[in-house]
Amino acid sequence: MTDTFAALQTQSHADTFVTRLVRRSLDQLPPGEVLIRVQWSSLNYKDALSATGNKGVTRNYPHTPGIDAAGVVVTDTSGQFAAGSEVLVTGYDLGMDTAGGYGEYIRVPAGWVLPLPAGMTTREAMLYGTAGLTAGLCVQALLDAGVAPGNGDILVTGASGGVGAVAVALLAHLGFTVVASSGKAEAAEWLRELGASEVVGRDEVLAAAGRPIGKPRWAGAVDTLGGEPLASVVKSTAYGGTVACCGLAASADLPLTVLPFILRNVRLLGVDSVEQPLAAKAAIWQRLAGDWRVPVLAQLCTAEVELEALPPWFSTILAGGVRGRVLVKLG
Ligand code: NDP
Repeated sequence: MTDTFAALQTQSHADTFVTRLVRRSLDQLPPGEVLIRVQWSSLNYKDALSATGNKGVTRNYPHTPGIDAAGVVVTDTSGQFAAGSEVLVTGYDLGMDTAGGYGEYIRVPAGWVLPLPAGMTTREAMLYGTAGLTAGLCVQALLDAGVAPGNGDILVTGASGGVGAVAVALLAHLGFTVVASSGKAEAAEWLRELGASEVVGRDEVLAAAGRPIGKPRWAGAVDTLGGEPLASVVKSTAYGGTVACCGLAASADLPLTVLPFILRNVRLLGVDSVEQPLAAKAAIWQRLAGDWRVPVLAQLCTAEVELEALPPWFSTILAGGVRGRVLVKLG
Protein backbone atom coordinates (compact mmCIF):
# COMPACT_ATOMS: atom_id res chain seq x y z
CA MET A 1 0.00 0.00 0.00
CA THR A 2 1.35 3.43 -0.92
CA ASP A 3 0.49 6.79 0.58
CA THR A 4 -0.62 8.19 -2.75
CA PHE A 5 -2.87 6.66 -5.33
CA ALA A 6 -4.38 7.39 -8.73
CA ALA A 7 -7.87 8.83 -8.96
CA LEU A 8 -10.00 10.76 -11.38
CA GLN A 9 -10.93 14.14 -10.04
CA THR A 10 -13.63 16.45 -11.38
CA GLN A 11 -12.59 20.06 -10.93
CA SER A 12 -14.78 23.11 -11.28
CA HIS A 13 -13.39 26.08 -13.26
CA ALA A 14 -15.95 28.90 -13.41
CA ASP A 15 -18.92 27.21 -15.13
CA THR A 16 -17.03 24.29 -16.65
CA PHE A 17 -16.15 20.95 -15.14
CA VAL A 18 -13.03 19.04 -16.14
CA THR A 19 -12.19 15.51 -15.03
CA ARG A 20 -8.52 14.52 -14.97
CA LEU A 21 -6.24 11.88 -13.48
CA VAL A 22 -4.54 13.07 -10.26
CA ARG A 23 -2.60 11.58 -7.34
CA ARG A 24 -4.38 11.69 -4.01
CA SER A 25 -3.24 10.67 -0.55
CA LEU A 26 -5.06 8.33 1.79
CA ASP A 27 -5.41 11.08 4.38
CA GLN A 28 -7.50 13.06 1.86
CA LEU A 29 -10.18 10.37 1.91
CA PRO A 30 -13.20 11.02 4.14
CA PRO A 31 -13.52 9.39 7.56
CA GLY A 32 -15.03 5.90 7.60
CA GLU A 33 -14.41 2.47 9.02
CA VAL A 34 -13.50 0.50 5.91
CA LEU A 35 -10.55 1.30 3.64
CA ILE A 36 -10.93 -0.58 0.34
CA ARG A 37 -8.47 -1.07 -2.49
CA VAL A 38 -10.73 -0.68 -5.52
CA GLN A 39 -10.19 -3.20 -8.33
CA TRP A 40 -13.19 -2.45 -10.53
CA SER A 41 -15.78 0.25 -10.93
CA SER A 42 -18.29 0.98 -13.69
CA LEU A 43 -19.96 3.78 -15.62
CA ASN A 44 -23.52 4.80 -14.79
CA TYR A 45 -25.60 7.72 -16.05
CA LYS A 46 -25.36 9.27 -12.58
CA ASP A 47 -21.54 9.19 -12.70
CA ALA A 48 -21.64 11.30 -15.82
CA LEU A 49 -24.00 13.75 -14.08
CA SER A 50 -21.55 14.02 -11.18
CA ALA A 51 -18.58 14.48 -13.52
CA THR A 52 -20.32 17.28 -15.40
CA GLY A 53 -21.31 19.39 -12.41
CA ASN A 54 -24.91 18.30 -11.76
CA LYS A 55 -25.60 19.80 -8.33
CA GLY A 56 -28.46 17.37 -7.76
CA VAL A 57 -25.82 14.63 -7.57
CA THR A 58 -22.64 16.34 -6.31
CA ARG A 59 -22.54 19.63 -4.41
CA ASN A 60 -18.85 19.97 -3.67
CA TYR A 61 -15.90 19.97 -6.10
CA PRO A 62 -13.13 18.92 -6.59
CA HIS A 63 -14.63 15.47 -6.40
CA THR A 64 -13.91 11.85 -7.39
CA PRO A 65 -17.05 10.29 -8.96
CA GLY A 66 -17.88 6.58 -9.13
CA ILE A 67 -21.08 5.31 -7.48
CA ASP A 68 -19.87 1.69 -7.78
CA ALA A 69 -16.77 -0.02 -6.40
CA ALA A 70 -15.61 -3.58 -5.87
CA GLY A 71 -12.29 -4.59 -4.38
CA VAL A 72 -10.41 -5.81 -1.35
CA VAL A 73 -10.54 -4.61 2.26
CA VAL A 74 -7.30 -3.04 3.48
CA THR A 75 -8.40 -2.17 7.03
CA ASP A 76 -11.71 -2.14 8.88
CA THR A 77 -11.92 -0.47 12.28
CA SER A 78 -15.45 -1.88 12.80
CA GLY A 79 -14.07 -5.41 12.84
CA GLN A 80 -16.73 -6.71 10.43
CA PHE A 81 -14.47 -7.29 7.44
CA ALA A 82 -11.14 -9.13 7.47
CA ALA A 83 -8.23 -7.54 5.63
CA GLY A 84 -8.05 -9.11 2.19
CA SER A 85 -11.75 -9.97 1.99
CA GLU A 86 -13.55 -9.09 -1.24
CA VAL A 87 -16.36 -6.55 -0.98
CA LEU A 88 -18.59 -4.30 -3.04
CA VAL A 89 -20.18 -0.90 -2.43
CA THR A 90 -22.96 0.73 -4.46
CA GLY A 91 -25.06 3.77 -3.80
CA TYR A 92 -25.62 5.63 -0.52
CA ASP A 93 -23.33 8.67 -0.84
CA LEU A 94 -20.50 6.90 -2.69
CA GLY A 95 -19.45 8.96 -5.69
CA MET A 96 -21.95 11.69 -4.83
CA ASP A 97 -20.27 13.81 -2.15
CA THR A 98 -18.11 10.94 -0.88
CA ALA A 99 -15.00 10.22 -3.00
CA GLY A 100 -16.06 7.31 -5.21
CA GLY A 101 -14.92 4.29 -7.16
CA TYR A 102 -12.91 6.23 -9.76
CA GLY A 103 -10.03 6.22 -7.26
CA GLU A 104 -7.78 3.29 -6.36
CA TYR A 105 -8.92 3.58 -2.72
CA ILE A 106 -12.19 4.48 -1.03
CA ARG A 107 -12.95 4.88 2.68
CA VAL A 108 -16.59 4.34 3.64
CA PRO A 109 -18.83 3.47 6.60
CA ALA A 110 -19.07 -0.27 7.28
CA GLY A 111 -22.85 0.05 6.83
CA TRP A 112 -22.35 0.64 3.10
CA VAL A 113 -20.21 -2.46 2.50
CA LEU A 114 -21.36 -5.90 1.33
CA PRO A 115 -19.23 -9.03 1.21
CA LEU A 116 -18.85 -10.17 -2.37
CA PRO A 117 -21.42 -12.94 -2.90
CA ALA A 118 -19.95 -16.42 -3.30
CA GLY A 119 -19.47 -17.37 -6.93
CA MET A 120 -19.07 -13.79 -8.17
CA THR A 121 -15.77 -12.03 -8.97
CA THR A 122 -15.21 -8.33 -8.31
CA ARG A 123 -15.18 -7.78 -12.08
CA GLU A 124 -18.52 -9.55 -12.48
CA ALA A 125 -19.97 -7.50 -9.62
CA MET A 126 -19.12 -4.33 -11.50
CA LEU A 127 -20.43 -5.77 -14.76
CA TYR A 128 -23.76 -5.62 -12.99
CA GLY A 129 -22.99 -2.57 -10.82
CA THR A 130 -25.74 -0.18 -9.79
CA ALA A 131 -27.39 -0.83 -13.16
CA GLY A 132 -27.66 -4.55 -12.41
CA LEU A 133 -28.80 -4.01 -8.85
CA THR A 134 -31.49 -1.63 -10.11
CA ALA A 135 -32.62 -4.03 -12.81
CA GLY A 136 -32.73 -6.78 -10.17
CA LEU A 137 -34.85 -4.62 -7.85
CA CYS A 138 -37.23 -3.84 -10.72
CA VAL A 139 -37.59 -7.52 -11.58
CA GLN A 140 -38.13 -8.39 -7.91
CA ALA A 141 -40.83 -5.69 -7.74
CA LEU A 142 -42.62 -7.22 -10.75
CA LEU A 143 -42.38 -10.72 -9.29
CA ASP A 144 -43.65 -9.51 -5.89
CA ALA A 145 -46.61 -7.90 -7.68
CA GLY A 146 -47.53 -11.25 -9.22
CA VAL A 147 -46.23 -10.68 -12.74
CA ALA A 148 -45.31 -14.12 -14.06
CA PRO A 149 -43.98 -15.65 -17.28
CA GLY A 150 -47.00 -16.52 -19.38
CA ASN A 151 -48.93 -13.37 -18.40
CA GLY A 152 -47.88 -11.67 -21.61
CA ASP A 153 -45.15 -9.41 -22.96
CA ILE A 154 -42.88 -7.46 -20.62
CA LEU A 155 -41.56 -4.20 -22.02
CA VAL A 156 -38.11 -2.79 -21.17
CA THR A 157 -37.52 0.83 -22.20
CA GLY A 158 -34.07 2.32 -22.74
CA ALA A 159 -33.18 -1.31 -23.36
CA SER A 160 -29.69 -0.76 -24.73
CA GLY A 161 -28.66 1.25 -21.65
CA GLY A 162 -27.08 -0.27 -18.54
CA VAL A 163 -30.23 -0.86 -16.48
CA GLY A 164 -32.26 -1.79 -19.55
CA ALA A 165 -29.78 -4.34 -20.89
CA VAL A 166 -29.50 -6.17 -17.56
CA ALA A 167 -33.29 -6.11 -17.21
CA VAL A 168 -33.71 -7.66 -20.68
CA ALA A 169 -31.17 -10.39 -19.92
CA LEU A 170 -32.56 -11.13 -16.45
CA LEU A 171 -36.23 -11.22 -17.48
CA ALA A 172 -35.42 -13.50 -20.44
CA HIS A 173 -33.35 -15.76 -18.15
CA LEU A 174 -36.39 -16.06 -15.86
CA GLY A 175 -38.61 -17.15 -18.76
CA PHE A 176 -40.43 -13.90 -19.54
CA THR A 177 -41.24 -12.82 -23.08
CA VAL A 178 -39.32 -9.57 -23.35
CA VAL A 179 -39.96 -6.72 -25.76
CA ALA A 180 -36.98 -4.36 -25.82
CA SER A 181 -37.49 -0.76 -26.83
CA SER A 182 -34.43 1.02 -28.12
CA GLY A 183 -33.55 4.12 -30.12
CA LYS A 184 -30.46 2.34 -31.45
CA ALA A 185 -31.34 0.31 -34.54
CA GLU A 186 -27.81 -1.13 -34.54
CA ALA A 187 -28.38 -2.62 -31.07
CA ALA A 188 -31.32 -4.80 -32.15
CA GLU A 189 -29.35 -7.97 -32.86
CA TRP A 190 -27.39 -7.65 -29.60
CA LEU A 191 -30.65 -7.16 -27.65
CA ARG A 192 -31.98 -10.38 -29.20
CA GLU A 193 -28.77 -12.13 -28.10
CA LEU A 194 -29.45 -10.88 -24.58
CA GLY A 195 -32.87 -12.55 -24.74
CA ALA A 196 -35.36 -10.07 -26.22
CA SER A 197 -38.07 -11.80 -28.25
CA GLU A 198 -38.84 -8.56 -30.07
CA VAL A 199 -37.08 -5.21 -30.46
CA VAL A 200 -39.14 -2.09 -31.13
CA GLY A 201 -38.21 1.53 -31.71
CA ARG A 202 -38.86 4.31 -29.20
CA ASP A 203 -41.92 5.47 -31.21
CA GLU A 204 -43.80 2.23 -30.58
CA VAL A 205 -43.61 2.88 -26.86
CA LEU A 206 -45.35 6.21 -27.44
CA ALA A 207 -48.44 4.58 -28.98
CA ALA A 208 -50.77 6.04 -26.33
CA ALA A 209 -49.18 9.51 -26.23
CA GLY A 210 -51.78 12.28 -26.19
CA ARG A 211 -54.60 9.91 -25.18
CA PRO A 212 -55.89 9.30 -21.63
CA ILE A 213 -55.57 5.52 -22.09
CA GLY A 214 -54.35 3.22 -24.86
CA LYS A 215 -54.80 -0.32 -26.16
CA PRO A 216 -53.71 -2.90 -23.56
CA ARG A 217 -50.35 -4.27 -24.69
CA TRP A 218 -48.00 -5.00 -21.77
CA ALA A 219 -48.34 -7.46 -18.88
CA GLY A 220 -45.56 -5.54 -17.17
CA ALA A 221 -42.69 -3.19 -17.83
CA VAL A 222 -39.36 -1.93 -16.58
CA ASP A 223 -39.09 1.75 -17.42
CA THR A 224 -35.80 3.67 -17.29
CA LEU A 225 -37.04 6.78 -19.11
CA GLY A 226 -39.84 8.56 -17.22
CA GLY A 227 -41.73 11.34 -18.99
CA GLU A 228 -43.98 10.71 -21.99
CA PRO A 229 -42.59 7.20 -22.61
CA LEU A 230 -43.46 6.06 -19.06
CA ALA A 231 -46.88 7.70 -19.24
CA SER A 232 -47.58 5.93 -22.52
CA VAL A 233 -46.36 2.59 -21.11
CA VAL A 234 -48.70 2.89 -18.12
CA LYS A 235 -51.59 3.74 -20.46
CA SER A 236 -50.76 0.67 -22.58
CA THR A 237 -50.46 -1.76 -19.68
CA ALA A 238 -53.05 -4.55 -19.64
CA TYR A 239 -55.55 -5.12 -16.84
CA GLY A 240 -53.77 -5.87 -13.54
CA GLY A 241 -50.33 -5.29 -15.01
CA THR A 242 -47.42 -3.68 -13.19
CA VAL A 243 -44.82 -1.15 -14.27
CA ALA A 244 -41.54 -0.74 -12.36
CA CYS A 245 -40.21 2.79 -12.77
CA CYS A 246 -36.56 3.53 -11.96
CA GLY A 247 -35.22 6.21 -14.28
CA LEU A 248 -35.59 9.59 -15.88
CA ALA A 249 -33.37 9.32 -18.97
CA ALA A 250 -36.10 11.02 -21.01
CA SER A 251 -37.70 13.25 -18.37
CA ALA A 252 -38.61 13.55 -14.70
CA ASP A 253 -42.18 14.53 -15.65
CA LEU A 254 -45.10 12.12 -15.72
CA PRO A 255 -47.99 13.42 -17.87
CA LEU A 256 -50.68 10.96 -16.82
CA THR A 257 -54.29 10.76 -15.58
CA VAL A 258 -55.52 8.28 -12.99
CA LEU A 259 -57.49 6.32 -15.63
CA PRO A 260 -55.04 3.40 -16.10
CA PHE A 261 -55.00 2.92 -12.32
CA ILE A 262 -58.74 3.09 -11.65
CA LEU A 263 -60.01 1.43 -14.86
CA ARG A 264 -57.34 -1.22 -15.39
CA ASN A 265 -55.96 -1.82 -11.93
CA VAL A 266 -52.50 -0.99 -13.24
CA ARG A 267 -49.80 -0.63 -10.62
CA LEU A 268 -46.86 1.74 -10.92
CA LEU A 269 -44.01 0.87 -8.56
CA GLY A 270 -41.09 3.16 -7.78
CA VAL A 271 -37.67 1.54 -7.51
CA ASP A 272 -34.65 3.08 -5.79
CA SER A 273 -31.31 1.31 -5.55
CA VAL A 274 -29.36 3.98 -3.67
CA GLU A 275 -30.86 4.15 -0.19
CA GLN A 276 -32.17 0.57 -0.06
CA PRO A 277 -31.37 -1.04 3.30
CA LEU A 278 -28.15 -3.04 3.00
CA ALA A 279 -30.00 -6.33 3.62
CA ALA A 280 -32.31 -5.64 0.65
CA LYS A 281 -29.28 -4.94 -1.56
CA ALA A 282 -27.62 -8.13 -0.29
CA ALA A 283 -30.67 -10.22 -1.20
CA ILE A 284 -30.55 -9.03 -4.82
CA TRP A 285 -26.77 -9.51 -5.05
CA GLN A 286 -27.13 -13.08 -3.76
CA ARG A 287 -29.64 -13.80 -6.50
CA LEU A 288 -27.49 -12.13 -9.18
CA ALA A 289 -24.64 -14.43 -8.13
CA GLY A 290 -26.94 -17.46 -7.93
CA ASP A 291 -30.16 -18.39 -9.68
CA TRP A 292 -30.40 -15.00 -11.42
CA ARG A 293 -26.90 -15.16 -12.87
CA VAL A 294 -27.52 -14.33 -16.52
CA PRO A 295 -25.88 -16.59 -19.09
CA VAL A 296 -25.07 -13.55 -21.26
CA LEU A 297 -23.14 -11.68 -18.56
CA ALA A 298 -20.02 -11.24 -20.73
CA GLN A 299 -22.09 -9.80 -23.60
CA LEU A 300 -23.37 -7.02 -21.35
CA CYS A 301 -19.91 -5.43 -21.35
CA THR A 302 -19.46 -3.01 -24.21
CA ALA A 303 -16.08 -1.62 -23.12
CA GLU A 304 -13.45 -2.07 -20.44
CA VAL A 305 -11.41 1.07 -19.80
CA GLU A 306 -8.75 2.29 -17.39
CA LEU A 307 -9.23 5.52 -15.44
CA GLU A 308 -7.51 7.89 -17.87
CA ALA A 309 -9.68 6.65 -20.78
CA LEU A 310 -12.98 7.14 -18.96
CA PRO A 311 -13.76 10.92 -19.22
CA PRO A 312 -14.82 10.90 -22.91
CA TRP A 313 -17.52 8.37 -22.01
CA PHE A 314 -19.35 10.90 -19.81
CA SER A 315 -20.76 12.87 -22.74
CA THR A 316 -21.51 9.63 -24.61
CA ILE A 317 -23.68 8.21 -21.82
CA LEU A 318 -25.43 11.54 -21.22
CA ALA A 319 -26.39 11.55 -24.92
CA GLY A 320 -27.89 8.06 -24.55
CA GLY A 321 -25.06 6.61 -26.66
CA VAL A 322 -23.72 3.83 -24.43
CA ARG A 323 -24.72 0.25 -25.16
CA GLY A 324 -24.74 -2.05 -22.11
CA ARG A 325 -22.12 -1.68 -19.41
CA VAL A 326 -18.75 0.09 -19.37
CA LEU A 327 -16.33 -1.49 -16.89
CA VAL A 328 -13.62 0.58 -15.23
CA LYS A 329 -10.43 -1.30 -14.35
CA LEU A 330 -8.34 0.00 -11.47
CA GLY A 331 -6.54 -2.82 -9.67
P1 NDP B 1 -27.89 4.62 -19.73
O1 NDP B 1 -27.52 5.93 -20.28
O2 NDP B 1 -26.93 3.49 -19.78
O3 NDP B 1 -29.27 4.12 -20.42
C1 NDP B 1 -30.32 4.98 -20.70
C2 NDP B 1 -30.91 4.60 -22.06
O4 NDP B 1 -32.14 5.31 -22.22
C3 NDP B 1 -30.08 5.01 -23.26
O5 NDP B 1 -29.06 4.10 -23.58
C4 NDP B 1 -31.14 5.06 -24.34
O6 NDP B 1 -31.47 3.72 -24.70
C5 NDP B 1 -32.35 5.63 -23.61
N1 NDP B 1 -32.44 7.10 -23.69
C6 NDP B 1 -31.54 8.01 -23.34
N2 NDP B 1 -32.01 9.25 -23.50
C7 NDP B 1 -33.26 9.11 -23.98
C8 NDP B 1 -34.28 10.04 -24.35
N3 NDP B 1 -34.10 11.36 -24.27
N4 NDP B 1 -35.46 9.55 -24.79
C9 NDP B 1 -35.67 8.24 -24.88
N5 NDP B 1 -34.72 7.31 -24.55
C10 NDP B 1 -33.54 7.76 -24.09
O7 NDP B 1 -28.32 4.89 -18.22
P2 NDP B 1 -28.52 3.84 -17.02
O8 NDP B 1 -29.02 2.56 -17.57
O9 NDP B 1 -27.34 3.89 -16.13
O10 NDP B 1 -29.70 4.57 -16.23
C11 NDP B 1 -31.00 4.66 -16.83
C12 NDP B 1 -31.86 5.59 -15.98
O11 NDP B 1 -32.11 4.99 -14.72
C13 NDP B 1 -31.22 6.94 -15.69
O12 NDP B 1 -32.22 7.93 -15.68
C14 NDP B 1 -30.65 6.77 -14.29
O13 NDP B 1 -30.53 7.99 -13.62
C15 NDP B 1 -31.68 5.86 -13.69
N6 NDP B 1 -31.17 5.03 -12.62
C16 NDP B 1 -31.91 4.99 -11.46
C17 NDP B 1 -31.51 4.20 -10.42
C18 NDP B 1 -32.37 4.11 -9.22
O14 NDP B 1 -31.87 3.71 -8.15
N7 NDP B 1 -33.66 4.41 -9.32
C19 NDP B 1 -30.24 3.47 -10.45
C20 NDP B 1 -29.59 3.49 -11.76
C21 NDP B 1 -30.05 4.29 -12.79
P3 NDP B 1 -31.98 3.32 -26.17
O15 NDP B 1 -31.07 4.02 -27.13
O16 NDP B 1 -31.84 1.82 -26.19
O17 NDP B 1 -33.40 3.78 -26.30
